[in-house]
Formats: sequence, structure tokens, C-alpha cells
Amino acid sequence: MLTECGKLYVVATPIGNLADMSFRAVEVLKQVDLIAAEDTRHVKMLLQHYGITNKLISLHQHNENKASSVLLEKLRAGQSIALVSDAGTPLLSDPGMPLVKMVKDAGLDVVPIPGACALIAALSAAGLPVTQFSFEGFLPRTSSARKAFFSERVLSPKTWVFYESSHRILASLQDMAEILPLDRQIVIARELTKLHETIVKTGLGNALELVEQNDNMRKGEFVVIVDGAVADKKEQIITAEQEKLLKVLLRECSIKTAVAMAVEITGVRKKLLYQAALAMDKEKDA
Ligand code: SAM
Repeated sequence: MLTECGKLYVVATPIGNLADMSFRAVEVLKQVDLIAAEDTRHVKMLLQHYGITNKLISLHQHNENKASSVLLEKLRAGQSIALVSDAGTPLLSDPGMPLVKMVKDAGLDVVPIPGACALIAALSAAGLPVTQFSFEGFLPRTSSARKAFFSERVLSPKTWVFYESSHRILASLQDMAEILPLDRQIVIARELTKLHETIVKTGLGNALELVEQNDNMRKGEFVVIVDGAVADKKEQIITAEQEKLLKVLLRECSIKTAVAMAVEITGVRKKLLYQAALAMDKEKDA
């Protein structure tokens, strides 16, 4: 007789508030043969809270490929497995992708058990358009790479969202303020579902001031949501970086040449760059 293959359950766990665990998630974690967890010590607290005493195996970013092959064999042998990460939905800036891909490619069942996810929780309470959005995960670590990242998105009409840590929230907003207009609406969603949950929606300039001046606004875990560029506003924007470029060109060439070169490099309308160049020229003489 052929052994029936087991199923892989991808189980979302809370992002701070233990009560956000779903009934179904608890049932599945109780019933599976094995729980694959990002950090087995961390997940033990959650399991204890719900009286779940199940076998654990570790699956983290450093052993993912090897551990996934082992888990696939167990599924083939008929065992059912639940995958959990430290918080929220596995795979969303968390381990699990190689395992899910391997299991799908092998033609076995992968069952999602939905629940908390910081990205979705933040979007649901942000008050910014969500019909179309782009999730960017964690930002690059260096300032220059972050500025390049922001430059690529400054004219995007979609809402975009990223995860940020307490170590980098200030630096990221400072970099963003160099590239995006300071009146662009952003939402800082901090410590979601926890005691000090804070969700602030304001212009980028204000948000930066808030994070600079208030120590608490640099503590905890963050989701940052950025409003898309408005279509008719898009035409009127010159970013700080484009302005910098124009300034450098003006140092070396005439207004006419500098504007022509800036149009070619940035794709911004000539009229807009010309007005900016004239204003810079006036400032220089003042
Ligand atoms: N898989 C998780 C999910 O479903 O949201 C995300 C894991 S990722 C490694 C951790 C990041 O998610 C944090 O650095 C933070 O940016 C965001 N995050 C997680 N929990 C959060 C919370 N309670 N409030 C705000 N952001 C949170």
C-alpha cells in the first residue's frame, strides 16, 4: 500500500499580542506531527501559552536548504508539518520560501493558516490607498543604497510599504527626506498590537521631526507606509536629488546647457527644471 503524503501547514502566529492566534492555528499546531520553527526557544513560549506540546525542529535562514530537504522526506513519509516563524506570517521577510517551493515543486499540499502580519495590519489602519501597493521588505542597509531605492520610487503612483528596525528608522527617514517631497504623506506604524502601539499619519517632514525629537518613536518594531505620487502633482515635483544634480550642473555650465543636460538625465519636464534653475541663479546673486 502506498503511504499518503503529509501536508505542510504554513501557520501565522501573533506579532505581539498572544490573543491574535487563531483557533485554527492552535488546532493545527496541536495536530501536526512536527513543528518547524525559526527559533525553537522563542516559539516554546507561544506553545506553552496554548498548551501545545509538540515536537519542534529548527528551520532558520542559515539551515533552510538542508532542513527543507529533511522535512520534504518526512512529508513524503506521511508526516504532517507546521511551519511557523518568530512572529506573523512565515515567508514575509521570514524563513520558509525554500521549503514551500520544494514542497510545491514535489506536488505535495501546502495549506496556509492565515493570521497576523505586520504589513497587512499596518495597511488596514493607515488610511492610505490599498487597492494597489508594493511591499518592499527591509530597506538596504547603506544610506546611498537607500537613497537610490527612494529615487526609483519617488514618482510611483502606488502606495509602498517597508519594514524597519529601531536601529535604522531615523536614518531611513532622513534619507527619505532628502529624496521625497516633505509633504508626502507617510504612516509610521510602531509596536502593532502591543502595549505601546502607535500609528501616525502625517507629512514626511513632520514624521521625521517626530522621530528625531521623541526617543520613544525610535523604539520597537516599525512598518512604514508611503503614499504614492499623485498623478497631477507628479509633474510639479523636483526631488532633492534632482535639485542637487541641477546645482552641480549650473556650477559648470550655462543655465541653458545645465537644464538641457538635467532634462536628459532625469526626464523631468524642461519648464520645471528651467524655473528651478532660474531660482537657483537668483539665489546665487542675492
Ligand atoms: N513575518 C512577519 C510578518 O508577518 O509581519 C515579519 C517578520 S520581519 C523579520 C520583522 C519585522 O516586521 C520587524 O522588524 C518590523 O519591521 C515588522 N514587525 C513585526 N512585528 C511588528 C509589530 N508588532 N509592529 C510593527 N512592525 C512589526
